[in-house]
Amino acid sequence: MLEQLAHIGRDPETGGYVRDAWSEADLELREWFAGEAGRRGLALREDRNGNLWAWWGAPSPERPGVVTGSHLDSVRQGGAYDGPLGVVSAFAALDLLRERDVTPSVPLGVACFSDEEGARFGVPCAGSRLLTGMLPPERALALTDDDGDTLADVLKRAGRRPDRLGRDDETLAAVGTFVELHVEQGRGLVTEGRPVGVAGAIWPHGRWRFDFRGRADHAGTTRLADRDDPMLPLARMVLAAREAAERRGVVATVGKVRVSPGNANAIPGLASAWLDTRGADEDAVRALVAELSEVCAGAEVREESWTPVVTFDTGLRDRIARAAGGDTPAPILPTGAGHDAGILAAAGVPSAMLFVRNPTGVSHSPGEHAEQADCEAGVVALADVLEELCR
Ligand SMILES: [Zn+2]
Repeated sequence: MLEQLAHIGRDPETGGYVRDAWSEADLELREWFAGEAGRRGLALREDRNGNLWAWWGAPSPERPGVVTGSHLDSVRQGGAYDGPLGVVSAFAALDLLRERDVTPSVPLGVACFSDEEGARFGVPCAGSRLLTGMLPPERALALTDDDGDTLADVLKRAGRRPDRLGRDDETLAAVGTFVELHVEQGRGLVTEGRPVGVAGAIWPHGRWRFDFRGRADHAGTTRLADRDDPMLPLARMVLAAREAAERRGVVATVGKVRVSPGNANAIPGLASAWLDTRGADEDAVRALVAELSEVCAGAEVREESWTPVVTFDTGLRDRIARAAGGDTPAPILPTGAGHDAGILAAAGVPSAMLFVRNPTGVSHSPGEHAEQADCEAGVVALADVLEELCR
């Protein structure tokens, strides 16, 4: 299945993937999902927020299902595994249960969440945040991409109904338990010497946009003393973020900047930078943002997203660690990455995650990798977990 997806949204020059939400590539991936669901006789549903659900058995509020899955979109220039491994493994685990002649006592669902990475509109896990009501639809619809198109425009173009966006209790009530399998985005399992692990907690994390305003002018004729160049405070902010992160024991990244008008021979009029910061301690993360807002007193600072710490249901976590581990329970790992499972857990859905070993630990890059044998171990572990949960 990963091979079937290998060409979709792939940049032939870098080998990286660009699978923005609602792009051509995303629509093709959605079609692939529908095909896999159909091939297995699963009932396909797209909910009001563009999330896809493929059901084996019909869930109801009285009889909610066990759901597994992940996302198919990617960061720009991302790898092949972040997201797709979870969706592919979900279908493969379902196949394995059928091979084992397991008849689940509750409906079993495969999910594909919309716009998990937030690569296009800036808000990660937009599909699950909309579903759970964590992201108000008015705010989501007004988000713009690099071309200035709003999410509302983009949805209309994709034949969807923007007016239907928003909290969806009916869809949510069908999810009794959610398990997301994901490639590990670190080297915890390499250290443990195990192919599969279980998530303990997701660090609190957020994104902030800093807009620095200056005055656009000629790069040759404007004397240095006469300039109001917004790149200078932006550069100071990047350095201050690194320094503060080291001091406060968190991580901080400025991975995206936008400079307008963007001419090599002009002083910019506006420079924007996006700060992503995370850490085990929420107070330390918040304090870093407050400190930077002070350092950048002239900038307009806006919080684009915030996710508090997510501690997965410990009973479910331990049960899954046992089911997935064979003789010795699977190791439990913390993670600095956000996931749809974290959003569902925060909304009160018992949720858990399985991680598959990543030999280099590299993620959000074409270098992301998982060995075939480890992917297969992940599928077996997921099938064991689902069998346990569907008993
Ligand atoms: Zn992911």
